[in-house]
Amino acid sequence: MSAQSPRFEKKLRAGVLGATGMVGQRLVSLLADHPWFELTEVAASERSSGKTYAEAVRWHLDVPIPAGAGDLVVKGLNPTLECDFVFSALDSSVAGSAEEDFARAGYPVVSNSRNHRMDPDVPLLIPEVNAAHVDAIPLQQKNRGYDTGFIVTNPNCSTAGLVLVLKPLADAFGLEKIFVVTMQAISGAGYPGVASVDIQGNVVPFISGEEEKMEAEPQKLLGKWNGERFVDAGLGISAHCNRVPVLDGHLECISVSLKKIASLREVREALRDFQVSSELAALPSSVRNPVIVLDEQDRPQPRRDVNAGNGMAAVVGRVRECPLLDVKLTLLSHNLVRGAAGAALLNAELLAARGFLNRDVRSEGPESLAESISQ
Ligand code: NAP
Repeated sequence: MSAQSPRFEKKLRAGVLGATGMVGQRLVSLLADHPWFELTEVAASERSSGKTYAEAVRWHLDVPIPAGAGDLVVKGLNPTLECDFVFSALDSSVAGSAEEDFARAGYPVVSNSRNHRMDPDVPLLIPEVNAAHVDAIPLQQKNRGYDTGFIVTNPNCSTAGLVLVLKPLADAFGLEKIFVVTMQAISGAGYPGVASVDIQGNVVPFISGEEEKMEAEPQKLLGKWNGERFVDAGLGISAHCNRVPVLDGHLECISVSLKKIASLREVREALRDFQVSSELAALPSSVRNPVIVLDEQDRPQPRRDVNAGNGMAAVVGRVRECPLLDVKLTLLSHNLVRGAAGAALLNAELLAARGFLNRDVRSEGPESLAESISQ
């Protein structure tokens, strides 16, 4: 059965806060020709506001700035933008309060930033993992006195790939402990990021705050929303995070202990068979199999595999026995796509499909789907 895409009467207007940054420009690029969304506003700091987007941005992608985006005038962070919802790719020094201002002014905020990820009423969302967590939105609106606005976040870039791979293992066998060592690309540090003299021919064994995020965020993502609060998954997680001289793509070596005994064949099958629901398959940015398992003994590699599934898949290889825990493997995911812009876009698509992005209708959960889309 082929998944049906919801059809919108007209495209929803999207704004991008932090549009000039590494994540923001990925979003601008991904929004070009998007079937449901149209980019109508870009916003950034005072350094950029008042300029056209083409003048303000230091464009890093190897495709040109999309037609229509380059001429938009960059605005500041005043929540008076002409759009139905905003993506936030703001530096964390300003994201916290700016996102609240926009939500209070009625804008749904789909954020990449860390500031609100662990708030007790904010969904930390990976649609393939915990789509049910969007049910927390009405309570968030009630708690905070928001009307049509709210905040939804995506996880840290290294957590995104990790949890996508952990999800089918958690479902099939249950999880107890995870030990993870990352090798993270320099684009994960924004622009200009790590100074070239520090990273060229080198490895930096510290990324501020990253290990804490990797140890905390999977607990919320793999946990449950019980109607009143998020209940943590209660996993033991230890993370070591390293910055390596790779442009895009975070590689992670993980060892896991499982609740149920499983053979390596069963583990590979669980990963390979992980398929999204028909609701998710209908979202424009989703991939039906978000985990790809490679058999070659020297894969995944960032240069070769980072764009698998349009950058939305996690690529797994080297599934083998672990002498300390049960199973170990290597995974790769695109930090700027699966770990940031693509993740936010997929979140927005899920929210749109469930009727949460119509600013003229106060969100009341999935029931409002019928009012906003026709099948
Ligand atoms: P970045 O390249 O440094 O871009 C930061 C953006 O924030 C720019 O658009 C910048 O505008 C804007 N900004 C900075 N200070 C501002 C201010 N005072 N007022 C208004 N706007 C301001 O960073 P990034 O890598 O794109 O990351 C953006 C966010 O996503 C961060 O919170 C980051 O932690 C998160 N994130 C990043 C990744 C990744 O792989 N890079 C992954 C997941 C999440 P100007 O150009 O005008 O300065």
